[in-house]
Amino acid sequence: MSLLKLVNVSKFYHNKKNVSTGFNKVNLSLDQGEFVVITGESGSGKSTLLNVISGLDSYEEGELYINGEETSHYTEKDYEDYRRKYIGNIFQNFNLVNSYTVYQNIELVLLLNGEKKRDIRKKILEVIDLVKLTKFKNTKASKLSGGQKQRVAIARALVKNTPIIVADEPTGNIDVAAAKEITKLLYEISKNKLVVVVTHNYEQFAEYATRQIVMHDGRIMIDKKLKETEEVIDEPPKYKNIRFFNKLLLAFRNAFNIKIKFFLLVLVYLILTISVFSNYTSLSMSAYNNQMFKTSMIFHDYSEKRIIINKKDKSAFTEEEIEKISKIKNVTEVVKDDILIDNYTYLENDEAKIWNYININDIGNVKKVKYGHLPKEGEDDYNVAILKTAGKVSKSEAEKYLNNTFRLTSNNGGIVSHDLRIIGILEDTSESSLTDIDTLYVTNDILDNIRTETNLFYSDTIVTLNDKVYSSEDYTLTFNLKSSDKVPYGEAYVSEDINIYCKDYNCYKKNLNIRVKNNYYENGFDLYIGDTFKKNTINRKLGFNKDEYDEYAFTIFINPANYKELFNENTYQMSVYVKDEKKIDTTTKALEKMDLNVYKMMDMTSNIFGQILGFVVLFGKIRFIISIIVLFFICYFIIKLILKSRNTYFSTIRTLGGNKKVLNDLLNIELLIDINIAYIIFTTILILIRHKIILKIDYIYQLSTFFTVKDYIIIYIVLMVMSILIANRYSNKLFGGSVMSNYRENE
Ligand code: ADP
Ligand code: MG
Repeated sequence: MSLLKLVNVSKFYHNKKNVSTGFNKVNLSLDQGEFVVITGESGSGKSTLLNVISGLDSYEEGELYINGEETSHYTEKDYEDYRRKYIGNIFQNFNLVNSYTVYQNIELVLLLNGEKKRDIRKKILEVIDLVKLTKFKNTKASKLSGGQKQRVAIARALVKNTPIIVADEPTGNIDVAAAKEITKLLYEISKNKLVVVVTHNYEQFAEYATRQIVMHDGRIMIDKKLKETEEVIDEPPKYKNIRFFNKLLLAFRNAFNIKIKFFLLVLVYLILTISVFSNYTSLSMSAYNNQMFKTSMIFHDYSEKRIIINKKDKSAFTEEEIEKISKIKNVTEVVKDDILIDNYTYLENDEAKIWNYININDIGNVKKVKYGHLPKEGEDDYNVAILKTAGKVSKSEAEKYLNNTFRLTSNNGGIVSHDLRIIGILEDTSESSLTDIDTLYVTNDILDNIRTETNLFYSDTIVTLNDKVYSSEDYTLTFNLKSSDKVPYGEAYVSEDINIYCKDYNCYKKNLNIRVKNNYYENGFDLYIGDTFKKNTINRKLGFNKDEYDEYAFTIFINPANYKELFNENTYQMSVYVKDEKKIDTTTKALEKMDLNVYKMMDMTSNIFGQILGFVVLFGKIRFIISIIVLFFICYFIIKLILKSRNTYFSTIRTLGGNKKVLNDLLNIELLIDINIAYIIFTTILILIRHKIILKIDYIYQLSTFFTVKDYIIIYIVLMVMSILIANRYSNKLFGGSVMSNYRENE
């Protein structure tokens, strides 16, 4: 049984337009121990025949038998196996890894065959000695002469120790003297092997040939046995797969051995990293900005330090309860007038307007000030106030406010309070608060006013007159409730126009029920109509400026005490502020123990806006994914260009018997090394910017503070996945065809 047997084998090349013949109906039997020399004019099909024999190219017709086994059903994997076990290739153009040294080129074969690095050192040095390259063992292949290169190739074939050695014009690119050595070397290593040599120069091999074949126009014309050979049958050597550690070694070697390529790849990946980062940033920034925007529509103070509480039984808070809550650990402030926090209130006088929405709180909560002073004994009789600014305030700025008087104005209720004199200023420099809301601390009297105005605005006023119910919520008839101390307690003065709603056009002494309903409470009482007025009597009867009187609204004046009973109610809902929002959960637990409904602002914002936000984020995510895909392809094409020279390396590895998985892994590890280096460079720069060590660019600094460890991890994963996909796509494309077809593409 022959080692190799070809029966009517043909090979055709399919080009775009036509089909050309490589060789046609070749019948050939080759045995171990033979030294076969093939000659023939250029284009006669010699190389094609060798490539088919070596399993580097496929054939179209006939059957090739290896040790009697048919190969027409062979898969690429079977061919890999075959090449690895049987074939040692020597090429006219050497097919060395130019960036590897002589030693590394020979070592490569053995590592691919699963040998341990330290076990093979001796063997490699011996082989190098045999081909007389000891002086050059650490020289890069690219620096060698043609003859030296071919000797490396022979050494490589030798250590591979396969039963078949295939050499395509091994002396074609080297001078005559060197060629003589090469032929001799080939002969020396060929004992007991099948050697098939293609040459233009038969004379060089005549001395060693045991058989001569002449090809012409794709056919074998002469097949002549020159010497008898002994038939030897060797089991091909058994190989293991490359060790993981050696894969790492080779990948590192590949990553760094061509400096310009390494530099370019890291550069591309650096640009990729920056692009992914900026895309990711705009994604999370839009979510963040959106949250800021949306929340501010309902809550002015959406600080994560804020907790809103009310009682489960819907009753008002007592002073003792308020006291107890303010003593809970981590609580810095209790704001009784919760509703005022989210009211549009601002402070202004003719010179200045503090545009920020202002929180209102009790001046009793202030313990110290930065500029000015705390209220002195008796001073709280006046309309004094202390301003707490969000963020730092300079001395000159502070002086603009200090000891000046302001009005407190509300978008809904007009002027809330006249003549507030700011006596002290303090700063709120806590960083974690998302808000920039100033707080105004005022006395209880003013707080009462503000509360009354605000409650009036937020309440539904229901007036029942003559068994008819008029609710401001239905817009059937809107009553304007005002207070005047000219009206006795328990009475109501109404405008004359109201008479149309009563029998005989007279409402005098009739009962009027007034109820007030809002989120917090419902309240009301009966009054009786003690008098009526019209525009020209309003000043006399009620002390009200007739120019300010709106004739078209149905105005009801009541006693200030009644008014206060209706609108200046107790505290039903409060806001609690904590010192450290990270410990907010222990605070909420303590509050829940007091049988309260507890709403953390940080939850409320995310719950209420979850859906809107979800949509915005989804939209952003789609954009993010699209840009990642675009980036992927841009990167892929650039990397493909950079790695173009690498195709020869891959073909070389494949002729040596390395399989797709090995190459895929090598490329993957190499690209992962590059992208990790790029990532490390990028994050290092970002961290340096963040700590203000280099580059004082505000915008990038802002970005850098925005990133959390989670963001860094997400981006890292995205980049790693991209790198792996790029490597896989690249090697998949590369493994589309047979070794030679890929090799040809890259010539
Ligand atoms: P040799 O090595 O004897 O010079 P080849 O085996 O290279 O000849 O070529 C044999 C025939 O096959 C020639 O006619 C050549 O034109 C054709 N051929 C070789 N390679 C290709 C290819 N990649 N595509 C198309 N035709 C090819
Ligand atoms: Mg050729």
